[in-house]
Amino acid sequence: MAIGRKSLRAWALRTALRKGSDMDLGIKGKRAIVCAASKGLGRGCAEALAAAGVDLVINARTAGPLEETASVLRDTYGVSVTAVACDIANPEGQAAVCAAGDGADILVNNAGGPPPGLWSDWEREDFIAALDANMLAPIAMMKAMMPAMMDRGWGRVVNITSQSVKAPIPVLGLSNAARTGLTGYVAGTSRQVAPFGVTINNLLPGIHDTDRAVALDGGVSRSQNISIEDARAQREASIPARRYGTAAEFGAMCAFLCSVHAGFVVGQNILLDGGATNATI
Ligand code: NAP
Repeated sequence: MAIGRKSLRAWALRTALRKGSDMDLGIKGKRAIVCAASKGLGRGCAEALAAAGVDLVINARTAGPLEETASVLRDTYGVSVTAVACDIANPEGQAAVCAAGDGADILVNNAGGPPPGLWSDWEREDFIAALDANMLAPIAMMKAMMPAMMDRGWGRVVNITSQSVKAPIPVLGLSNAARTGLTGYVAGTSRQVAPFGVTINNLLPGIHDTDRAVALDGGVSRSQNISIEDARAQREASIPARRYGTAAEFGAMCAFLCSVHAGFVVGQNILLDGGATNATI
């Protein structure tokens, strides 16, 4: 019986996914800090690391959902998960997370994104808040955690930034500014720590199906006076993949960057955007 082209494609996809899930990332038993991880992309990263056998310290500001995520990850993957409820944007929060994750081999930096607006809306304190959350917090976490990784000769840092680093999103001026600052810091620093076996890379999400996406679609819905469903459909139509990304896909890429296989990936900015950023490189 002849196999149709469609079923051949489906078979190839199934095989590829099966093979992917069997890949040994070589990090079982390592320890990771994942910031801002009770929901969304941070949770996706935490879950993919837990699935690879990594013990976790996870963080978010609100204790309830954070404890719930920790409990699901413990029960599902049998790894140790410590939950630290605090604001990662301030020095006290950073110190609490670093103390709980002392000696971690892997650091995933993340925080909530700044609000949208118009260039003329923002005052100094708005910029300071964006810089604290999306530039200075990850820098402080790297400064605290990387020396021990360098002493041990192995470490992985992944920063969650944004597609807006490559292709600025005009209404997200605070985000564009803070994340570009972090990107510049990582570009130089990643080359300084690479000789010690520590890699730093940035993951640049395009639109993903999380609460942040709902908030952004809500903004479009209000400004264009259309329903939130229409705002989403309009955005999906503009993406070559014709859909939003998932936290699981995002987490899988993060876990790969944290794996033993990614030691030669240094200082890169990797877009996960379904092809939305229209550029050759
Ligand atoms: P999300 O679904 O809203 O989840 C944010 C997570 O971070 C929650 O667990 C939240 O918990 C925690 N969090 C927020 N601020 C925090 C803080 N100061 N300290 C500690 N935890 C904090 O967001 P997401 O979609 O996963 O987005 C993650 C990052 O990627 C954001 O910076 C976002 O701007 C960026 N991004 C997202 C997209 C997208 O389409 N989703 C696209 C581009 C960029 P608490 O509220 O309890 O603290």
